[in-house]
Parts: sequence; C-alpha cells; structure tokens
Amino acid sequence: MLEIRNLHARIAETGTEIIRGLNLTVKGGEVAAIMGPNGSGKSTLSYILAGREDYEVTEGDILYNGESILGMDPAERAAKGIFLAFQYPLEIPGVATMEFLKVALNAQRRARGEPELKIPDLLRKVREAAGRLKMDMAMLKRPLNVGFSGGEKKRAEILQMTLLEPKLCVLDETDSGLDIDALKVVADGVNALRSPDRAMIVITHYQRLLEYIVPDSVHVLSRGRVIKSGDKDLALQLEQNGYAGIVGEAA
Ligand code: ADP
Ligand code: MG
Ligand code: MG
Repeated sequence: MLEIRNLHARIAETGTEIIRGLNLTVKGGEVAAIMGPNGSGKSTLSYILAGREDYEVTEGDILYNGESILGMDPAERAAKGIFLAFQYPLEIPGVATMEFLKVALNAQRRARGEPELKIPDLLRKVREAAGRLKMDMAMLKRPLNVGFSGGEKKRAEILQMTLLEPKLCVLDETDSGLDIDALKVVADGVNALRSPDRAMIVITHYQRLLEYIVPDSVHVLSRGRVIKSGDKDLALQLEQNGYAGIVGEAA
C-alpha cells in the first residue's frame, strides 16, 4: 500500500535536510510502528506523507497503491484516503467540533462524487463514533480542540479518523500526554479500525502504546532513516536497552 523509496527531504525555508534516505514498505492490513529518539524525523515524515508545504522532497519517491503522491496536495491525498492524526492537534477557535466534522465529511463525499450527508445521518454517525470513544456529545459543541485536555484532543483526532474511514492512517505520538484510561480508549478506537484493506503507521517514542496496539512490524528511525526493522519484540528490546545501542550500531 505504501512504499517509501530512498526519501530525502529538507525544510523548504532553510534547506536543512531532515529525512536522509528513508526506506519503508507498509502492506494493506499492516500496523507498522515507527519508533525513534526525539528529533529523529518521525513527525517530519508524517507531515511529508500528508503533503505539508514546509518540506521539500529532493530525492526518492513515495508510492501509495503504486502511484507517486509527491505531486499531490494535502486535499488530494486526503481524498485518496490518507489521514494524519497530529502529535499536536491544532486549535480552531470559532469552529464547533461538530461543524468541523460536517465540513470534513462532506468535503470527502464531494471529492468522491457522493451526496452530502443529511443532518440526522451525520448526527447518528457522529454519536455512534463518539460513544465508542467515550466522548461527551456536549464537547462537540465546543470549538475544535480549544481548551481540550491532551486526552480530549487525541480522542477528537481518533473521532475524525473513525468518521473519515481512511485507508492509510498515520498517528503521530497519539499516546503522548495520555493517562492510562485515555490511552486504552484511544487504542481501542484504533484497533476497531484495523482491517485487511487499511494500513496504519503508529509513531511513538515509547513502547507503552504498543502493548495496546500490537504492531505487525516495528521500524526504528534515527537521523532521518530507518536503521532497523523487526517485529513487536524489537519494541520490547528498545524499551529495555534504550535507543543508544541500536543507534550506535547503525552509525
Ligand atoms: P521527532 O518527531 O522524531 O521528534 P521531528 O520530525 O519533529 O522529530 O524533527 C526532526 C528534526 O528536524 C529536529 O532536529 C527538528 O528540530 C528539526 N525540524 C523539523 N521541522 C523543522 C522546522 N520547520 N524548522 C527547523 N527545524 C525543524
Ligand atoms: Mg519529538
Ligand atoms: Mg514528533
């Protein structure tokens, strides 16, 4: 489903190279965990997948279902089923969460040539998904993410993901700032979306999340490239020994 080949990318403004020859393949149905020390380029990779303009790809390619996405803007990528849950979800003052969900869902439906959702259908869908994530419906009247706790923001991200039913989900440190109960709820939401035709990339600094979202593969990022890949045991090994050993080995 996703094939990243020898990707090199830099910050457009300064020219600093952050991604330095990254290779990664993720199959449909696979849950791939990306781990790595702070500053290794995990968030940068997720932004590049989503198509953020601040980064420039200088070499390599990103194939999604065999097609390069490098020439596509973020909206096109989203319409093709790529979804990024942010490490730091943006606050959008003045836009109620429910209104935001309606706009996002209808934009996706328009892109697919489907009719807009009728309000009762929208409410039913949102109520079901919010219920599963143990989110209070009253929260949906509040401006998106404004004054939400860390856990509430992450739930709001998973709610958007659940409703948009993407094919490739990229979750950037969805665990950061979550207490254990919120972590379980978020992990349940993610696990509910696991399916043979959907791939997920779960980015995390810590092994803890991977006790709840058990990955099929684990990839360690360091200085902008994947330096080691393995199965879920690699995450346990990292938890015990830290990143230093593996990073040193690769260097
Ligand atoms: P991670 O998510 O693995 O902690 P990031 O992708 O956030 O790492 O950052 C990788 C490196 O790139 C860091 O050294 C960070 O400071 C740098 N970086 C990322 N984006 C920018 C930017 N827009 N301007 C300057 N430096 C950046
Ligand atoms: Mg970081
Ligand atoms: Mg990050």
